[in-house]
Amino acid sequence: MEQRDDVVVVGAGVVGLATALALLEDGRGVRVIEARRIGSGSSHGNCGTITPSHAPPLAAPGRVGEALRMMVRPDAPLYIRPRVDPRLWRWLWRFAGRCNLRDWEASARAKSLLLNDSRARLCEWIGRHGLDCEFAESGEDYVFRSPAAFERGQHELDLLRELGVDVEVIDGPAFDAQEPAVLPGTAGAIRFRGDAVLRPDRYVDELARVVRARGGRIDEECALQRLEDSTAGAALHTSAGILHAREVVVAAGAWSPNLARAIDAPWLAGAMQPGKGYSITYDPPPLVPRRPLVLRDWSVCVTSWPSGFRLGSTMEFSGFDERLRPRRLAALERAARASLREPAGPVVRERWCGWRPMSCDDVPIIGRLPGHRRTWLATGHGMMGVGMSAGTGQLVADLLAGRGPAVDPSAFDPGRLAG
Ligand SMILES: Cc1cc2nc3c(=O)[nH]c(=O)nc-3n(C[C@H](O)[C@H](O)[C@H](O)COP(=O)(O)OP(=O)(O)OC[C@H]3O[C@@H](n4cnc5c(N)ncnc54)[C@H](O)[C@@H]3O)c2cc1C
Repeated sequence: MEQRDDVVVVGAGVVGLATALALLEDGRGVRVIEARRIGSGSSHGNCGTITPSHAPPLAAPGRVGEALRMMVRPDAPLYIRPRVDPRLWRWLWRFAGRCNLRDWEASARAKSLLLNDSRARLCEWIGRHGLDCEFAESGEDYVFRSPAAFERGQHELDLLRELGVDVEVIDGPAFDAQEPAVLPGTAGAIRFRGDAVLRPDRYVDELARVVRARGGRIDEECALQRLEDSTAGAALHTSAGILHAREVVVAAGAWSPNLARAIDAPWLAGAMQPGKGYSITYDPPPLVPRRPLVLRDWSVCVTSWPSGFRLGSTMEFSGFDERLRPRRLAALERAARASLREPAGPVVRERWCGWRPMSCDDVPIIGRLPGHRRTWLATGHGMMGVGMSAGTGQLVADLLAGRGPAVDPSAFDPGRLAG
């Protein structure tokens, strides 16, 4: 008789592993299949901030003009490499259609629900499962060197306060006095006390450990190639043979649109793009910021943990171009030199790039695949997959169980982008 798994999760990044854990806690049997190695995608070298404060989406009023201006600057924080790519242009067209006040606010409200749920749930998981990942309830500071940027940066604060985000506006001299790691001359700062931080590669390893400890199985070097979804069950054709499952959750991050044909969801190809980002990780320098910083004039994030110090940023739409571009890495270092007393650590441990799974409305895609009985999607988490991971896992577990979920799932429904 053919062997059948209960649920197969495709992709072992933070979203797939958190989903596996929530399903196991719900009493389901879980196998995770991963094309490469556990945590080899975007979940590895990101900045690890947990940010209910980042609810407003990238698709914002004025963003299209900003992106067009930045197209002529290959070291800009937001860069679209001009090229003939119908999928990219379809994505950009839909993205541009969302860059208005009404959609911006609707997306922010939807993301906020998931971010807040996830922030609380993550804290609970850390304690209950003993996840050893340098988690700290640190808060986060946005730091501005330019007075005009400081002024602009306060435009979204009313909405954030309404969404329950704890916001404190700090003038430049007061911030300089509080944060000895920054160079004097700050125009102002915004502190989000409810944000947190963890070391993402350790979080991935810890999720994998707990998934296995609770009876889940993780198969590496096992790529989904084709999926057949029928009333009788799902058949997964993989690089390591055929698997059968009652249900399948596709959590393949930025690679999800590449599976559009394989999972019979052609619309997915035009609904997501890989958003490339870079990071440099050092051993910690002697003086590090008290909490994660976003250097807003350059959109560079600075994170430090007991085990490391990381600069990370940039959103580059250049497909899956694997090159580590020196110009981009230099832009991270330049921003740090302009803002920090100790802009680098004594030893560089890693220079990295990864691809964020960017949906065209910058809202995650979570729910049943339209027209299919047994296939579910958990992808499109963009710049906040770590911060949304625990809430996403629980939402998927609730949906599969047919329970009323803790978070209203309607804004995440894949059906909004299909067709
Ligand atoms: C520079 C940078 C900084 C960031 N900072 C933050 C931050 O501070 N906070 C935050 O919350 N987020 C941050 N992010 C975003 C975050 O990294 C992502 O949102 C998150 O990692 C997405 O997780 P995922 O599990 O969906 O995708 P991934 O981690 O990319 O995992 C997807 C997995 O699916 C596998 N896969 C693909 N195709 C197949 C297939 N056919 N079969 C089987 N497996 C497959 C891949 O190999 C991969 O391991 C940042 C990203 C970048 C690039």
